[in-house]
Amino acid sequence: MATETKTTMTEQQHDSMFDAVLARLDVAAKIYGLSEDVANVLRSPQKQVQVSIPVMMDNGKVQIFEGFRTIHSTVLGPSKGGIRYAMDVCEDEVKALSAWMTFKCAVANLPYGGAKGGIKCDPRKMSVGELERLTKAYTIAMADVFGPDRDIPAPDMGTSGREMAWLVDAYNKVHRGDYPAVTTGKPVGMGGSLGRDAATGRGVMVATLAALKKMSLSPNDVSAAVQGFGNVGAHAARLLSDHGIIVCAIGDHTATYWNEKGIEIHAALRYVKENNGVLKGFTGGVEIKNEELLTADVDILVPAALQNVITGDIAANVKAKLIIEGANGPTTPEADAILKEKNIIVVPDILANGGGVTVSYFEWVQNRYGYYWSEEEVNMKHDASMNTAFEHVWNNAQLYNTTMRIAAYITALKKVELGIKAKGIY
Ligand code: NAD
Repeated sequence: MATETKTTMTEQQHDSMFDAVLARLDVAAKIYGLSEDVANVLRSPQKQVQVSIPVMMDNGKVQIFEGFRTIHSTVLGPSKGGIRYAMDVCEDEVKALSAWMTFKCAVANLPYGGAKGGIKCDPRKMSVGELERLTKAYTIAMADVFGPDRDIPAPDMGTSGREMAWLVDAYNKVHRGDYPAVTTGKPVGMGGSLGRDAATGRGVMVATLAALKKMSLSPNDVSAAVQGFGNVGAHAARLLSDHGIIVCAIGDHTATYWNEKGIEIHAALRYVKENNGVLKGFTGGVEIKNEELLTADVDILVPAALQNVITGDIAANVKAKLIIEGANGPTTPEADAILKEKNIIVVPDILANGGGVTVSYFEWVQNRYGYYWSEEEVNMKHDASMNTAFEHVWNNAQLYNTTMRIAAYITALKKVELGIKAKGIY
C-alpha cells in the first residue's frame, strides 16, 4: 500500500543531499531576487510516496524492499525523473534528486516538472527473475502515481531499458491499454528512441565543447579524466575521445586506470563488454587509486559516477580547469566555494547531464506521435537544445556575475517562478 508522507523542516535540516540543493537554491534565490513565497514552494516537494514491496526470491523466501517516489514539482508539466536501484537509496536522496530534476528540466526548457524514484536493493546480487518481479511489484504499487500525463520515470543508476520494458508491461496490465509514454529510456523497438542510450554522455560532450570554446581552448590540445564507466561515463569518454580530447584516466567501482598518452577508449569499451561490465583487469593503463583520478593532472574532470565525490579536500587538490558534472550532485557546497576561489569552471549537473532527459522528452514525443525519428534527427535536435541551454546559463552567469551552477539555478528559477505565478497559489 502506498502511504504519502509529509516532510518537516527538521528532517530537511538533517539531510545533507537535500540541504545541498537548498543551499544552492537559497544563494540563487537571493542573487536573482526570487520571492520568499515561490522559494518556499520549491523548498518542499509536492508529494512523497513510500512503499513496501514483498518479492518472492529465488530461494522461496519473501523479502521486503523499500521503494520511493518523490514528485518535487509539476508546475511546468508532468513530473519526470529516473528510478535508481542501490543499497543507499533513501527518502532524502530521492527528494534531492527530484528537486534537481525540476531545475534540470527547466534549464533544458522541457515541458516537465521534476521527480525521482528508487528502490533500496543491490541489483548486482539479484537474479534477472528477482529484478523483474521487484520492478513489476514496484510499478503496481506506483500505478496511480505514474502516468504519461502525470509522472514519467526513466532509468538511473542500477536500472536500464530492461527495467523500463518491465515497468511498461506492468503499467499496461494495471491500466488495460498500451502506454509506452509512461516511461522513457525503453529499448529501441519497444518504443525507445534512437540516441537515448548515449544521450547523457553526448550532452556531456556538447557541454564540454561549448565550455572549451568559451575558454578559447581547442579539444585537440586538452586532456580529461572520467570517473564512472557506466551509461554516462562510458559514452562521455568515447565521445570526448572521438572529438580529439586525450582521455588520460577512466575508472569504475572496480578499478581506475591512467595513461598519460591517452587511454584507447574503444579498447576499454570492448574490454568491459567482454568482462561482465567492469574495468578491473584492463591493460590499457596503469592502475591508480580511485581518488587520484579526481586530482589527476588533466584539463577536464568529468565525475560521472557518484554524488559528493568532490569534497572540500578533493577540491583543494583538483588540477583540472574545467569540471563537467556528468553525475548528479558530485560536488559538495564546500567544494563549490573552493573551486570558485581557484577559478575552476564547473558546468553543473542540472545543465551538463541534461542531455538524457532531453532525449527522454523526444522519446515521449515520438511515443505520443506514434512516429519515430532517425538517430541523426534525434542527435541534431539534442545538440541544438544542449547548446541553447548552455548559452542561457553562460549568459546568466555573466549577467549576475556568478558561477555556472548558480546561473543554472537562476535560469531554472525564472521559468518555474513564471509557472507558479501564472497558475496561482490558492
Ligand atoms: P550506471 O549504473 O550506468 O554507471 C555508474 C558507474 O559508476 C559504473 O561504471 C560504476 O562502476 C561506477 N561507480 C560506482 N561506484 C563507483 C565508485 N565508488 N568509484 C568510481 N566509479 C564508481 O549509472 P549512470 O546512469 O551512468 O549514472 C551515473 C551518474 O549520472 C548518476 O549520478 C546518475 O544519477 C547520473 N545521471 C544519469 C543519467 C542517465 O541517463 N543514465 C542522466 C542524468 C544523470
